[in-house]
Amino acid sequence: MSEANLTLNQFLQQIPKIELHCHLLGTVRKETMKELARKNGARTTDAEINAFYVRGEKPVGVLHVFRELENQILQDPDDLRRITYEYLEDASRQQVRHAEFFWNPTGTLAATDLSYSELQNAILLGMNEAETDFGITSLLIPSIDREASASAGLEMVALMCAHRHPAVVGIGMDYNEVNNPPEKFSDAYALAKKVSLKTTAHAGEFGTSWKNVETAMDVLGVDRLDHAYSVLDNPALVSRCIDQGILITVVPTNSYYLRTLSADLWAQEHPIRQMARAGLKIHPNTDDPSFHLVDPIKCQRMMIEAFGYGIDDLKNFMLNGLEGSWLDHTTKSNLIKQWSEEFDEQRQKYL
Ligand SMILES: [Zn+2]
Repeated sequence: MSEANLTLNQFLQQIPKIELHCHLLGTVRKETMKELARKNGARTTDAEINAFYVRGEKPVGVLHVFRELENQILQDPDDLRRITYEYLEDASRQQVRHAEFFWNPTGTLAATDLSYSELQNAILLGMNEAETDFGITSLLIPSIDREASASAGLEMVALMCAHRHPAVVGIGMDYNEVNNPPEKFSDAYALAKKVSLKTTAHAGEFGTSWKNVETAMDVLGVDRLDHAYSVLDNPALVSRCIDQGILITVVPTNSYYLRTLSADLWAQEHPIRQMARAGLKIHPNTDDPSFHLVDPIKCQRMMIEAFGYGIDDLKNFMLNGLEGSWLDHTTKSNLIKQWSEEFDEQRQKYL
């Protein structure tokens, strides 16, 4: 095949990528999970682990898998170093050059006798090794387990302050949003902002009201939003997001819409189809690649094939991602310039 005729997949393989919404525990390779379970004497069987990686009629919930990892499988700092390194290796193979990823300390701290600093250092070591071996840069986002108490959220931010590291730039909030609205953790977010940590939060993810998106913006004062699909139910709030230029990280494989929209209407009725067309700044992400059976290239394919976006939109998503990232200003400006040129160069070959 001549260079002047890249297929869509080849084009998608070549273009530089950033990932801003991926959960470390959602990236674990199947064989790694089996090895770690065996090594640490977890009660989790190979058959159960196999089932975690199947998306059939009734898939095992990702949040259930996370609890199994936290409570049973991840028992020593090197486990965290290894899964971090392997995630970044897998991402870099698809030209993800920078990743900002979530990790929930609260569950692992409760289930093991490891300290916050041991865990954070192990992840930072994996990040450093991956940068050396694959050239991928990354930042870590400790994320509040919203099913835990408000004081556990505050404690997490206090631990971050006590073990402050420049690659641990901000906080997020995830796990089950139903009955755990953003304002539950207003104290944790106030402390994060006071010490100049960046902030984001999952909101409007599980068919939950646009109110949670508004609260995340107004009460928590977040710098960006994760999911935020229900914002479309409130046109005034959409306008505010556009005026503010806030980045929304979206997930094409989001399980709530896969579960609740019928297969024939899913691609038409999915909020992602409307979000960028409405003027919102979005960036597509893998979320839990191992369990959603997705990867960065497939994620971009879905934006085109399921939601009808074009190549120019992909460039805008890439630029949205860079602008909304938590890289320093100079690095961001340089990457915007370099990646735009690279994208255009590959585009010439694709057309
Ligand atoms: Zn997520």
